[in-house]
Amino acid sequence: MGSTLKGKSAIVTGATSGIGNAIASAFAEEGCNLMFNGFGDSEEIDAFRGNLSDRHDVDVFYDKCDLTDLAQISAMIANALERFGRIDILVNNAGIQHVSPIDEFPTEMFQRIIETNLAAPFYTIRGVLPIMKKNGWGRIVNISSVNGYVGSIHKGPYTAAKHGVLGLTKVVALETAETAITCNAVCPGFVKTAIIESQIQTRMKERGLSYAKAEQEHLVDKHPSKKFIPAEDIASVVLYLCSDAAKHITGIGLPVDGGWLSV
Ligand code: NAD
Repeated sequence: MGSTLKGKSAIVTGATSGIGNAIASAFAEEGCNLMFNGFGDSEEIDAFRGNLSDRHDVDVFYDKCDLTDLAQISAMIANALERFGRIDILVNNAGIQHVSPIDEFPTEMFQRIIETNLAAPFYTIRGVLPIMKKNGWGRIVNISSVNGYVGSIHKGPYTAAKHGVLGLTKVVALETAETAITCNAVCPGFVKTAIIESQIQTRMKERGLSYAKAEQEHLVDKHPSKKFIPAEDIASVVLYLCSDAAKHITGIGLPVDGGWLSV
């Protein structure tokens, strides 16, 4: 796989923690230059950036783009193009979650989820497609969710956005089908990151459970495998979709879910 990605340039959104962090690390390991964004402590972000760059001898840049702002998205893409001269790969990974019944859902949180999880992937894709078309090659991977296929109680806006991401993925695939650009989505089940950690903590508090019991219940509800999916295993699937071997795969939403969607 290394030969496909070595020397290429990727944008990975939301790489300051969780799944995005693992995806950025995996690309750097393959010799791919990177632009990433996301919130977090500036010293930690710079340490992550420097570490990837030094260890793998690749160019790694951080852009502080807030994905709820279209002007900042455009500036991040322009920044990546200026630094790399091309953008070969886009991974739309950044996402947020809020858990609440629909009739109590804060409206500003609904808007923020739609902006971050659905509008931002549309704007980044819209921005990079002309660059990929000009270069005659491209890979777009959107991180959707099992909630791109099925609903989960109290996750209305998130589920709507993740279904939307799958729809967007299909249309981008159709519009690029005759080119060497592919667009796919990955649909993870539970990966133990900040998003899931807060749900386990809520379950602990609401039901008076130990951490271990709350974690187990969280999994048993949905994952036949009864195991969390390591973020690195999501990153491996993203790498595969960006590889030459996957050149005929486009427009799919690939579940990586420990059997969740088979129940
Ligand atoms: P996370 O909270 O660890 O990471 C989210 C990243 O997005 C962070 O880097 C954060 O700073 C960034 N981000 C959020 N809002 C942003 C904004 N406005 N501008 C720029 N960056 C922003 O969460 P994660 O679990 O790693 O989630 C990554 C993706 O995977 C999300 O799209 C999420 O919906 C999806 N996902 C996660 C799980 C899971 O179980 N963790 C399951 C299915 C899908």
